[in-house]
Amino acid sequence: MLLKSVGQLITLRAMPSNDAHFPDPDLRRTFQQRLLRWYARHRRDLPWRKTSDPYKILVSEVMLQQTQVDRVIPKYKEFLRKYPSIGELAGASVRDVEATWRPLGYNIRPVRLHAIAKDTVRRRGGKLPDSLEELQALKGIGRYTAGAVMSFAFRKDAPILDTNVMRLLHRVFLGPGHPKRSKVLRHLWDLSAALIPKGRGYDFNQALMDFGALVCTARLPGCSTCTMRQICLSYPWTPDRNSRNRTGRPRRSVKEGSS
Ligand code: SF4
Repeated sequence: MLLKSVGQLITLRAMPSNDAHFPDPDLRRTFQQRLLRWYARHRRDLPWRKTSDPYKILVSEVMLQQTQVDRVIPKYKEFLRKYPSIGELAGASVRDVEATWRPLGYNIRPVRLHAIAKDTVRRRGGKLPDSLEELQALKGIGRYTAGAVMSFAFRKDAPILDTNVMRLLHRVFLGPGHPKRSKVLRHLWDLSAALIPKGRGYDFNQALMDFGALVCTARLPGCSTCTMRQICLSYPWTPDRNSRNRTGRPRRSVKEGSS
């Protein structure tokens, strides 16, 4: 099964990275199974994983934009102690909300969050919308944050693509290179959606983020013990290889190894 997948992966490797082709079902299953098995053992214990309240999950996702998890955790707790519901956030003054947010930085975020709270209370009786389109229509909520809220609060199989997920999917399925070109990004969004095992969007997306943050890191990925190394087109990843291949196109063969 795996060898067949690797063979098909080699076919995928020969295609341009922006080609709208996906790994075959066997390879997708291998990736899903390995990722979820890894996640069951190594998942991070994060406070926003203990709730399904869309408001609290939105607060965590907005805080996590451009900010490290370690810095977000204490501020997330403090913020929710002060504004435990979307109604209480809407009723606060924007100055107070901005002051509570400090020193996280990127200070347009609390202003937008406050505006979302006010709008949600005024027009929706305090209930955040449960569709990607309506969430993205709110100022300050982009495609990633909408996908995260759909997935983590409403338990829908919605794709996500933050920096960690982008890097992981690019390295495994497209090879070394830079995932920021717009055509590649479109492909990675499609790939992120196609990979979700039906009904497992919550765990799968959390697992993608944890794996990208803990194993397939930007500068020092743990390739030598990585559970994906047998199917990963970037194994073993090195900074040199990445910087030499700026086309975003993989150019090396898949290495075999035990999982
Ligand atoms: S083998 Fe290395 S580059 Fe590939 S997914 Fe694992 S850590 Fe990332």
